Amino acid sequence: MIKHFKNWSCWYRRFCKLLQLILVYSFFSNVSYGQTPLPSNSPIELLVLGSGGPRAEGRASSSNILLINGKAVVLVDAGSGAFVRSGELKLNIDQLELIFFTHFHIDHSADFPALAKTRAQGRTGTITFNVFGPKENIGHPSANQFIAQMFGPGGIFAYQPSFGTPEKFIVTDLPFGLDTQLLVIYDQQGLKVTTIGTNHGPTPSVAYRFDYQGRSIVFSGDTNPSAQDNLIKLSKNADLLVFNCAILDDAGSTAQSSNRHTPPKMIGKIAHEAQVKQLVLSHIMPIVDRAKDQVIKSIGSIYSGKVLFAEDKKTYPLEP
Ligand SMILES: [Zn+2]
Repeated sequence: MIKHFKNWSCWYRRFCKLLQLILVYSFFSNVSYGQTPLPSNSPIELLVLGSGGPRAEGRASSSNILLINGKAVVLVDAGSGAFVRSGELKLNIDQLELIFFTHFHIDHSADFPALAKTRAQGRTGTITFNVFGPKENIGHPSANQFIAQMFGPGGIFAYQPSFGTPEKFIVTDLPFGLDTQLLVIYDQQGLKVTTIGTNHGPTPSVAYRFDYQGRSIVFSGDTNPSAQDNLIKLSKNADLLVFNCAILDDAGSTAQSSNRHTPPKMIGKIAHEAQVKQLVLSHIMPIVDRAKDQVIKSIGSIYSGKVLFAEDKKTYPLEP
């Protein structure tokens, strides 16, 4: 009887411990309730600020944070809404200094001034932003022009670099186009960033890969399927591929959208051929939002890995 009781007592303690672990995990793994993300087991982690764009129907904006050892260090795109989402999360952006634009459409870049302003408020010392984005094309600025026309002399927000603590911008224009090769653009403190050109119609566009402590996350940005070879090269064996999913395989998407985005079947093909471990679909247009099952089925007919739809303010730990 005593032995029996001891067994139950032991199992009860184990059950309580398990319950405790589940509660702690669910608290830290979901940052939707105003919690600043805390370090997880993953050295690099995706935090989605915006999973939509360009339409404001439910989802809006397209923007991502990379947490490096739990700290918001990297921003990938900054569509309108990124500022609000970071505020709702009470996101600590004291370390945010690496900015990567996949392209300069409004839904990927419009909130950068707001984020730069709040970054400078109440801080001390000089903030240096390292900014990367594609070179210019007709009707589209280069990264240097984008920053200079906002924050440079005569720029629309020229006051900003000296409003609050001083802000400096080191800006790098990146080659774009399908004939570009893999290019390492940043390699410091264990974080390596690689880029390659994609094809977003007339808009210069690039994709990025982030490698840190043996783990990797890739962002396709907006692109049509003609960039598949470049994307497969960039995302080879990546832990996580964030792919912009704005159209469906067949009718229902406009010709303009089809010329600028990649349908689900092709996303599945790229993920399969690159052998990525996990796929997160983002930049979700209403037409895709309404057909999630169809999208999952289409991708799943080619790619056997895990597929998730991005949600604003959620983190996506890497698979073990
Ligand atoms: Zn775009």
